[in-house]
Amino acid sequence: MSAPRMATKQKVVIVGAGPVGSLAAIYAANRGHDVEVYELRSDLRDPSTTPLNFTRSINLALSERGLNAMRHAGQPKLIDHVTAVTLPMRGRMIHGKNPSGELYEVSQDYDIHGRAILAIDRGGLNKRLLDILEDMPNVTLFFNHKLTGADFKNNKAWFEIRKDAEQSKETVPEIEVDFDLMIGADGAHSAVRYHMMKYTRMDYQQEYIDTLWCEFQIKPQDGKSSLSRFKISPDHLHIWPGREFMFIAIPSEDGSFTCTLFAPAAVFSQLESFSSQPDGTSKISLFFDTYFPGVTNLIPPPDLLSSFNQNPHLPLISIKCKPYHHSSSAVILGDAAHAMVPFYGQGMNAGLEDVRILFAILDKHARMDENSDADASSDGTAASQRARALAEYTAVRIPDAHAIIDLALQNYIEMRSSVLSPLYRFRKSLEEY
Ligand code: FAD
Repeated sequence: MSAPRMATKQKVVIVGAGPVGSLAAIYAANRGHDVEVYELRSDLRDPSTTPLNFTRSINLALSERGLNAMRHAGQPKLIDHVTAVTLPMRGRMIHGKNPSGELYEVSQDYDIHGRAILAIDRGGLNKRLLDILEDMPNVTLFFNHKLTGADFKNNKAWFEIRKDAEQSKETVPEIEVDFDLMIGADGAHSAVRYHMMKYTRMDYQQEYIDTLWCEFQIKPQDGKSSLSRFKISPDHLHIWPGREFMFIAIPSEDGSFTCTLFAPAAVFSQLESFSSQPDGTSKISLFFDTYFPGVTNLIPPPDLLSSFNQNPHLPLISIKCKPYHHSSSAVILGDAAHAMVPFYGQGMNAGLEDVRILFAILDKHARMDENSDADASSDGTAASQRARALAEYTAVRIPDAHAIIDLALQNYIEMRSSVLSPLYRFRKSLEEY
């Protein structure tokens, strides 16, 4: 697919080489711009890179929204390169125990036509996007570069070069970079957004929900063929709804499952107190047997305790802001613009969709100027064209992004409680009666 070209070649600086920043760089490079990508961390693909807590590789659900954005990136091999490392999940599998103490699982398909969402490792997806970028001649990647300041009136930014973002705090003096357009894809705690707020009247709202998350793992079974290495169905997103909290498991290619416990901070405190007790293993086992029946058959209780102790307990933030741009010089995408709780499985998908929509609008304005014979080769015209496009992007995108943020918050109740089958709820009500 050949992408429409913008009227003039521009210098596009992208901050953040996560999934959204990397896809945005592919879109910008495909339009012939000079693209520079600045990333705080070292290159994920470097085996010596030690991941920071907040960059932990989690398994995500990649849906049509995200796939469609990749399909329109103008890089035919991108979709195959990415989907090669995914596993289709055709539905969710609800796990529970009936009143007679028997374990049950109920499959709920996502789609009557059998379409699936795809399980993918976030790090794996990110690496594959970086592979594509590396092959594009008009893209330069700068790892270990942290945005520390930006002047959106004079289109200048400053980056601190970190010797090794993970291991050393040693820095060399900042470098100054100029740009026509800066795309901020630097995540929920975005520095681009922070600096943009000094130039634009941005409304901003953030909320930490009273839920923490921690990762666990169901290990593959040894010495079996690739399919039978999975201890539970590999084509489902598994949910143990605990009403006030939940446990989920998403399959990985190697036969393991990446699992996440979501629970209120008070529950985490209670579980933390077990770790110092001599009978901590049996207490955590009792907790899982009570709320997530069957999990201790898949993860031995000592592993549950050690994962709980060793893996970080991380918060969940939801962010709304408005506008998403400043004049012709800056725009924020992905979590930088709309971090959301993960219960709708759409945070990254919506961020990838941002990229598709932003570039469709930029292309539309470039075409409009071409048709009206405007001299888009002059800097002033290119800037005013961008300013109009970015204003339209903010207007179009905010209602949708805010809606999905609200849906994500509501879906926590759906996943942890409403998914329980009507039959189960009926039995439960008889029991309570
Ligand atoms: P990030 O992935 O946060 O990347 C931002 C990048 O910017 C990072 O590489 C960071 O190092 C860099 N950076 C930060 N500051 C600077 C700076 N000052 N200078 C330079 N670089 C900087 N989404 C889904 O679609 N489906 C799911 O199933 C799903 N499940 C999730 C489960 C959990 C438990 C969580 C926590 C999230 C989940 N998400 C899911 C959300 C998804 O992870 C995020 O929406 C997605 O990672 C956002 O991508 P991003 O590129 O915008 O930001």
